Amino acid sequence: MQASILAWAVPAVFLAFGIGFAVLGRFDRSLHGWSLCFSLVAIGFASTILPAAEHAFLKPVFESMVFLLALGGANLALAARMGRRPRLGAIAGIIVVTGILSGLAMGPIGSATLDILVVQTGCALLMLLAATCMGPRAERRIDRVLFWLCVMVAASLGLQNVLLMALPQDVPLTSLNWRDSQWAFVFQLSGAISGVAMAFAVLLAIGLDLIEHHRRSSDLDALTLALNRRGFERRVTELRRGASSDVTSALIVADLDFFKQINDRYGHEAGDAVICGFAALMGEMAKPQGCVCRFGGEEFALFQRNMRLGEARDLANRIRKALCQVQWPFDLQDRQITASFGVVALERDESLWDAVSRADKLLYIAKSHGRNRVEADKIAPTLAVAAGPVRRAA
Ligand code: GH3
Ligand code: MG
Ligand code: MG
Repeated sequence: MQASILAWAVPAVFLAFGIGFAVLGRFDRSLHGWSLCFSLVAIGFASTILPAAEHAFLKPVFESMVFLLALGGANLALAARMGRRPRLGAIAGIIVVTGILSGLAMGPIGSATLDILVVQTGCALLMLLAATCMGPRAERRIDRVLFWLCVMVAASLGLQNVLLMALPQDVPLTSLNWRDSQWAFVFQLSGAISGVAMAFAVLLAIGLDLIEHHRRSSDLDALTLALNRRGFERRVTELRRGASSDVTSALIVADLDFFKQINDRYGHEAGDAVICGFAALMGEMAKPQGCVCRFGGEEFALFQRNMRLGEARDLANRIRKALCQVQWPFDLQDRQITASFGVVALERDESLWDAVSRADKLLYIAKSHGRNRVEADKIAPTLAVAAGPVRRAA
């Protein structure tokens, strides 16, 4: 009686994981694959507990198919997690070929040993296929853990096959005596351990994904999705760590001109659209080793690693000119939306906020000299490019 309660505990645990992942799937659709996978594993383990009828070779074939489909589900879930296309052809091929061979082994050939060898090989191949979704050099540590877990499960299935072939059996295994054999116990135990380990690794991955998601969103400005001050400081610190020692990094601070009038004339929503458009423009203009921050209101900063002052000044001018060309979804008549810029080069040991305050002073000069212009630090006044005073937006 105790043994049977213990035996039923295994499918019950997997069913709980299946239901748990289905509930979590309401928040993250990629978890439905795991729900399918663990629910099928629960059905597979439950079926193995039920006694087989005389000559009922279909039952073990059904169980094999359920476990194979579960591992197919794991493939889908891991591919979705890694943002990859699942290898549907390979998954279906392994499941179909293994299913046919399992049917032949248990039916006409009547060898449970051959069936176990075939099904475990199919399962090992599906696990190796799942491992390729992550690869050993996956960026996140938890994905490398999932990779090695898949490889270890595949290796343990392979090892069990080797043991099955190497160790002598007193009585040949059939669909009837298989359930009570010590092999069935070993395979079910190792399957249960692998399944639980995978379920906990997936849960850990979900938890870490959630933490990462919250960390990222707490670094972003809600309106524009540019970095906020906190995210900017964090990202700039990361970028400066890898900066070349002989080339400076650059900081561009920008503020839209006469923005209050855009709000007053076209409404707050139009003002928001302009802020978002300017953030997107700065994001497009930043090079790969740069980042953009919304300091608040309609003031932005762009940090660019390994960029000299002159290049940064040219970049600010390209942004300034591109802003003038933007087609806004409201009639500006003959006026333009423009911005003013302050540009500085960051010395290697200078704090980011000292540089921001220097760039802010230059921005203030650009405003007081007529707006729609770029003021750069430490260069001859002739190089501070001006496009002339702008007309007010309203
Ligand atoms: P200046 O050329 O001197 O910069 O003039 P300005 O009118 O742009 O002045 P300022 O930079 O001080 O204007 C900031 C305005 O931006 C004030 C505020 O009403 C508006 N603002 C701040 N945050 C938001 C926002 O999230 N959405 C919208 N639509 N407006 C905002
Ligand atoms: Mg402004
Ligand atoms: Mg402002």
